[in-house]
Amino acid sequence: MQFQLDDERIAIRDMARAFAREKIAPHALEWDENRHFPLDVLRQAAELGMAAIYVREDAGGAGLSRLDAALIFEALAEGCPCVSAYLSIHNMCAWMIDAFGSQEQRERFLPRLVRMERAASYCLTEPGAGSDAAALTTRAAREGDDYILNGQKQFISGAGNEADFYVVMVRTGEAGPRGVSCIIVEGGTPGVSFGKNERKMGWNAQPTRAVMFDNARVPLANRIGAEGEGFRIAMAGLDGGRINIGACSIGGAQAALDTALAYMRERKAFGKRLDEFQALQFRLADMATGIEAARTLLWRAAGALDDRTPDATRLCAMAKRFATDAGFDAANGALQMLGGYGYLSAYGLEKIVRDLRVHQILEGTNEIMRLIIARGMVRG
Ligand SMILES: Cc1cc2nc3c(=O)[nH]c(=O)nc-3n(C[C@H](O)[C@H](O)[C@H](O)COP(=O)(O)OP(=O)(O)OC[C@H]3O[C@@H](n4cnc5c(N)ncnc54)[C@H](O)[C@@H]3O)c2cc1C
Repeated sequence: MQFQLDDERIAIRDMARAFAREKIAPHALEWDENRHFPLDVLRQAAELGMAAIYVREDAGGAGLSRLDAALIFEALAEGCPCVSAYLSIHNMCAWMIDAFGSQEQRERFLPRLVRMERAASYCLTEPGAGSDAAALTTRAAREGDDYILNGQKQFISGAGNEADFYVVMVRTGEAGPRGVSCIIVEGGTPGVSFGKNERKMGWNAQPTRAVMFDNARVPLANRIGAEGEGFRIAMAGLDGGRINIGACSIGGAQAALDTALAYMRERKAFGKRLDEFQALQFRLADMATGIEAARTLLWRAAGALDDRTPDATRLCAMAKRFATDAGFDAANGALQMLGGYGYLSAYGLEKIVRDLRVHQILEGTNEIMRLIIARGMVRG
């Protein structure tokens, strides 16, 4: 078992970190304030291979591992957790097509996703089916060589651009997970429309919208995998997505901690620098420990996913639960170190706290992560 990064991995992390410092961090506050989705910057990230990190090389992907991906998303999140998290969703969708699509589908969809000419959205949640995703009701009925889609997806990250690809989980058969299929829907398809860009606590540098299907006609040839395999494909995508989102949490938390440390070196109270108070040093130690423990568990889960070990799903759930909680707690603790200034937008910490809060909710809430972990325990 190896806990040190080799030179190649250090180079990958440093590449992503340099990109985050130069292209993302200087604009993160402005994007948050103006609710700007920086697709141009994401396309520059795609030029460096970051839009298809673990897509195979024959389809134009970078062919890297889940551990490499975790390093990249952590580094990008040091610049902005929200931008990094959207790129994670795009990567998850591209991987689902690469892993479960036919050669024809890989050739048809992936080149545009690899270059990010098209951004991808993952469409599982519905107004009446969130945590209980297998209860989804968006229906795809066969008609000749097409499916006719009717229904609504809720909270879809990145949605709203007609030029994009939507990876949509739909019901084609019986109730429950075995009746779900996975279909690629192009944004400009007649009958596809979008709700308003939701106003939310954080994650303002990417849109969140409902996606509506009203007799939208989609070729059967856009179905990924067999009919009834969609739920399995959706959950497989989320295993990796959960590592990535955990990595985004610790990247944001690390940036918050670094900001707090720099501030505490300068700020004085009661005739001492803040970093001289042992009570505060102990809090810093706890934050750093939480981040490091989360990082270690994320790497372990990423390794399990790369090796396809039987406990990979459970480890991904553990890592997501732990990293998103530890990341939020550390960022919130870092904000406290700045006193009133931590609460001001200009210092950047309140944005990180707002961004990280949703990581405890999406890609499966942390209660659902506990459900997955405990299920393995009581069955095993
Ligand atoms: C900003 C944002 C972006 C999102 N992006 C996407 C996206 O791109 N694609 C997508 O498909 N979805 C997306 N989501 C949806 C997200 O995954 C869901 O919100 C999440 O899965 C929870 O579903 P819900 O909101 O319906 O809550 P509910 O399922 O109604 O849950 C409400 C509460 O009950 C708890 N709960 C539910 N069931 C149980 C149980 N069995 N045991 C214990 N507690 C339980 C939950 O943990 C939660 O605390 C996004 C959400 C947000 C806020």
